[in-house]
Amino acid sequence: MTRTSQVVVIGGGQSGLAAGYHLRRLGLDFVTLDAQATPGGAWQHAWDSLHLFSPAAYSSLPGRPMPLQVGETYPDAAHVVGYLTEYERRYDLPVHRPVRVTGVHRDGRLLRVETDSGSWHAQAVISATGTWWRPFLPAVPGRSDFRGRQLHTVEYRSPHDFAGQRVVVVGGGNSGAQIAADLAYDTELTWVTQRPPRFLADDIDGRALFDAATARRRALDGGRTDTGGVASLGDIVAVPPVREARDAGRLKASPMFVRLDRDGVVWADGTRTEADAIVWCTGFRPALSHLAPLQLRGRRGRIATVGTRALEEPRLHLLGYGDWTGPASATLIGVGRPVRGTARGIAELLT
Ligand code: FAD
Repeated sequence: MTRTSQVVVIGGGQSGLAAGYHLRRLGLDFVTLDAQATPGGAWQHAWDSLHLFSPAAYSSLPGRPMPLQVGETYPDAAHVVGYLTEYERRYDLPVHRPVRVTGVHRDGRLLRVETDSGSWHAQAVISATGTWWRPFLPAVPGRSDFRGRQLHTVEYRSPHDFAGQRVVVVGGGNSGAQIAADLAYDTELTWVTQRPPRFLADDIDGRALFDAATARRRALDGGRTDTGGVASLGDIVAVPPVREARDAGRLKASPMFVRLDRDGVVWADGTRTEADAIVWCTGFRPALSHLAPLQLRGRRGRIATVGTRALEEPRLHLLGYGDWTGPASATLIGVGRPVRGTARGIAELLT
């Protein structure tokens, strides 16, 4: 049996919930399909010590400020999960879970959304499936030779799992720096970055990143010079644990090794460092495989968009994946801006 809804939102993380908030305000009929068994999207799977890089007041979805977390300037992931759970309940958002979307197809004037528990016909689809589900691992010679443990950011939980071990953390972004800081005290840590780590000034946090991303998009849209956006400020927000480890001299980065062998990493000068584990903090790609039947994919696995609308399929919107779907739109506060246009665009399409 195929059910119908004016709009199907794929993904019930923060982006999908923000979409639901605006669709409801516009009185549209919609359903949200989410692969997770419980609310909170990717935040449910974060490592134990992960905290936001912005205070609660700068991490809110439309309509409902995130409450402060007692004793924490930067809320932890459990607090975010609690906030998203409450957001979904408060606005009575129709999230069906666990439901995994396997494919979106053109079906005459409608789109057909196939799932692992039946299919839906919709006049418009919002894809808000995030990136956490597609970890990226670089092609490094010898990776399959290494006999120790290899894991990606998405599998990392806590330094207790590595106590006393020799651990190599790869990656000079926020995840790499935070996980290296987490491991800096209980393990024999080697932190590897492709270029020397670029810490943002200590008094800059996610608020400034959002402003920088917005200024860049405005400059580009207005035909002015590229301001450089977030990248112009640095790569790593100096959140308190990162700052402490760095100031204690425990976060010294080495340039990238050239290959792995059975027991560790081999440096450009031929010397070696033995390791028990390698943690790849090497980023993510958008989780878009369910859209493959629409054949829209362009460069770097992305889909060309105008705002959030797919350039070549006006019934499809993409929300929350990164700057290409709106400045800082992969953040809690950042998704609030493009999502208004997404809902309005769909309302116009349907009338
Ligand atoms: P997700 O949270 O990934 O939600 C997508 C949902 O879609 C999930 O529930 C998933 O199961 C579901 N889904 C996926 N595929 C399918 C499918 N085929 N069918 C059905 N459902 C599907 N942002 C901030 O604002 N502040 C921060 O401090 C911050 N720190 C971050 C730290 C890390 C390590 C990372 C990785 C990101 C951080 N972000 C931060 C960015 C961002 O807020 C998160 O990535 C956030 O989880 C993105 O929300 P989302 O709803 O777009 O995607």
